[in-house]
Amino acid sequence: MILRIDRWLTELPPPTDPDPAQAKVVQELMGGKFGEMSTFLNYTFQSFNFRERQKARPFFDLISNIAAEEFGHIELVAATINSMLTDKKSIKDEVNTQKSPLLDLPPLPGNAHHYVNGGKGALPQDSRGLPWTGDNVFSSGDLLSDLTHNYFLETGARSGKLRVYEACDHPAARALTGYLLVRGGVHQVAYARAVENLTGADLTKLFPGPRVPSDAIKESQPYIEKGDHRRLYRFSPDDYRELSAVFNGNHPETGEPLEVVDEDPSLRPLPVDLPAQNDVFAPGYSTAEIDEIVDKLRKDAGFPDEVIGEVANPGK
Ligand code: MN
Ligand code: MN
Repeated sequence: MILRIDRWLTELPPPTDPDPAQAKVVQELMGGKFGEMSTFLNYTFQSFNFRERQKARPFFDLISNIAAEEFGHIELVAATINSMLTDKKSIKDEVNTQKSPLLDLPPLPGNAHHYVNGGKGALPQDSRGLPWTGDNVFSSGDLLSDLTHNYFLETGARSGKLRVYEACDHPAARALTGYLLVRGGVHQVAYARAVENLTGADLTKLFPGPRVPSDAIKESQPYIEKGDHRRLYRFSPDDYRELSAVFNGNHPETGEPLEVVDEDPSLRPLPVDLPAQNDVFAPGYSTAEIDEIVDKLRKDAGFPDEVIGEVANPGK
């Protein structure tokens, strides 16, 4: 099972100007064939379907643990898209009968579904607006096939992140891809090491690509300085301890030692609380009415005036 912690894996900038066209591009990192939903659900199904895990525990632990990190990546991609769809001009507590600025600029710059269906929220779709499909999951029942597939999945995912980085200059998209490029690099190395430990074949020598210059990308630098390019974090209070039997040796590009790190997840940054968007608020309750109802429910439940639960920008 998954234990959920209300933190983000890394900080993202607060909302700036909306950019629905670029938000549509970032959707590829959510619901594209090589997006985060794919990595998350590939490793999740492979871990669910893993037989005789006690005989191959380090490999089971590696796949399961990376699956858990990928959930956090989906959350970050969603937060980025939401931030890129947030328009400060739309923050009013009254019913807006104006046409959304999202639909204002001809030709339609973004995905109409973001507005009409999603209420300016991320969708499980790719950059064409097509829904993510379970056909993107490869779980073969064969450990070596799955690990080799995962190496190429991370390789393709990293190319996609680099292309989104180059296509989008929005600060949220840049911060997201700067982080994910580094983490995707670690996962590429992890699956390459897993295959090498199993067979002796070094995939990074057979297929030395893509040569993603993560050290040339400004937004990746703080993570590389911190050592995030050579670390796997363990995403469980007590489990998946044997992954270090597979994720070991040195980083194939930098020669630095690979390590598995236990970190207190409460040290990760708090999520940013985004403001309501008036132009997509359905007729019915206004945000003020919902505030009133929530106040009453909280009081009746005996909660204190101060909300239990934290965000990065309280009182905004
Ligand atoms: Mn990922
Ligand atoms: Mn990954």
